[in-house]
Amino acid sequence: MRITIIGTGYVGLVTGACLAEQGNDVFCLDLDAAKIALLNDGGIPIHEPGLVDVVLRNRNAGRLVFSSDIGAAVAHGELLFIAVGTPPDEDGSADLTHVLSAAESIGRHMTGFKVVVDKSTVPVGTGDRVGAIIGGHLALRGVDATFSVVSNPEFLKEGAAVEDFMRPDRIVIGHANDKEGERARLLMTQLYRPFNRHRERTHWMDVRSAEFTKYAANAMLATRISFMNELANLADQVGADIEAVRRGIGSDPRIGHGFLYAGAGYGGSCFPKDVRALSHTASQHDLELLILRAVETVNERQKQVLGRKVMRRFGRDLAGKRFAVWGLSFKPNTDDMRGAPARVLLRELIDSGASVAVFDPVAMDEAARVFARDFTADELARIDFVAGPMEALDGAEALVIVTEWKAFRSPDFAQIKARLNYPVIFDGRNLFQPQLMAEYGIEYHGIGRSALT
Ligand code: NAD
Repeated sequence: MRITIIGTGYVGLVTGACLAEQGNDVFCLDLDAAKIALLNDGGIPIHEPGLVDVVLRNRNAGRLVFSSDIGAAVAHGELLFIAVGTPPDEDGSADLTHVLSAAESIGRHMTGFKVVVDKSTVPVGTGDRVGAIIGGHLALRGVDATFSVVSNPEFLKEGAAVEDFMRPDRIVIGHANDKEGERARLLMTQLYRPFNRHRERTHWMDVRSAEFTKYAANAMLATRISFMNELANLADQVGADIEAVRRGIGSDPRIGHGFLYAGAGYGGSCFPKDVRALSHTASQHDLELLILRAVETVNERQKQVLGRKVMRRFGRDLAGKRFAVWGLSFKPNTDDMRGAPARVLLRELIDSGASVAVFDPVAMDEAARVFARDFTADELARIDFVAGPMEALDGAEALVIVTEWKAFRSPDFAQIKARLNYPVIFDGRNLFQPQLMAEYGIEYHGIGRSALT
């Protein structure tokens, strides 16, 4: 099938590459000329396991092209995917500028039937707005072409995006019930057939419900994390181990094990903005989503938990003290620094006078770019990017772990103890066994595990 993807970011690139892998003819459009040039040179703008191979294989086979030519992009696809960013506006609402401008481009250039598939995360009702814009441009141009707007939200996880796209738990598609909507359903059924071969994974629904489903999913996941983080802080006070509690409740099938890990707070581009956008949608209807407001507040506070623990142990004035930090990206297997808890930790350590030695297996370049905005030149002079995790320990008072990269899960504890000034670990992801740490003579501060430390 002929597919156009408008917006070649995380979602657009992965979607385009994975659809090309199934034999589709995919045209990826982006306004960012540098990104398109990089892709055309065989480069990949993001770190995502497995993506390089899929992109290069399909590019070389001629099934995946990258361009900034809007007219050619709209002409190419019978299905036009919108996968542009929907960043948060100042009031927390989703900024739809890019989505609506993609709709305008479609309306300005289309000449025959199109299925417009919204993959970006957008507030309920956006499908209608996209349709109105396209319809308005067609009327202005006097073009007699039909189209249908479909909502097909994306559930891939950064760090496992290719795998998630190729083997989705579910595919959510919202479509209209009119003639064009039924035609759109047929085309979408064909497009997703390779992903539904073993069992049917598609949930068909109306457009508004599909738009809502994406927000509901992210809000639920964020709620589970904040719930566990709040309980972890109580566990610290009452002498319980949140890891034992997690296993104890997760084995109840009504609760399940996923997303029950206490830690240093959730980050990334999606949970924070989607939780806020859903709250904002509610406020437009004079409703207040009390649970979601608490989810957000708890998370903001949780991002400070490591800084608080460090200062409780080493004092508020950290001048002249150095700390090793392992992990910068907001989660493993990505170089994405958006909303990363490490940024909050570093801000607190630097403000308290400390210097830091940081290491991340893939996010060092991205972190350097982001820190150049977060910190002044003087402050940056107190942030050392080091070549490996063990190098970060030399001359440091303690080690702080922020991101649970696999390479940090079974380190050489004897070496950690020998290289640090004090054998102290603040573990923001509860990677280690407190009892074992005690045996190594390491002072261990997990999240919600004070019973054991
Ligand atoms: P991104 O910022 O990585 O990519 C967006 C791309 O769109 C950019 O390259 C930008 O240059 C391009 N763009 C903007 N306006 C354009 C236009 N008018 N025409 C052509 N290109 C344009 O964003 P992303 O992370 O891929 O997210 C895209 C959407 O998918 C968002 O709504 C996001 O909430 C949602 N989503 C993201 C993830 C994720 O893990 N990143 C997961 C699920 C859903």
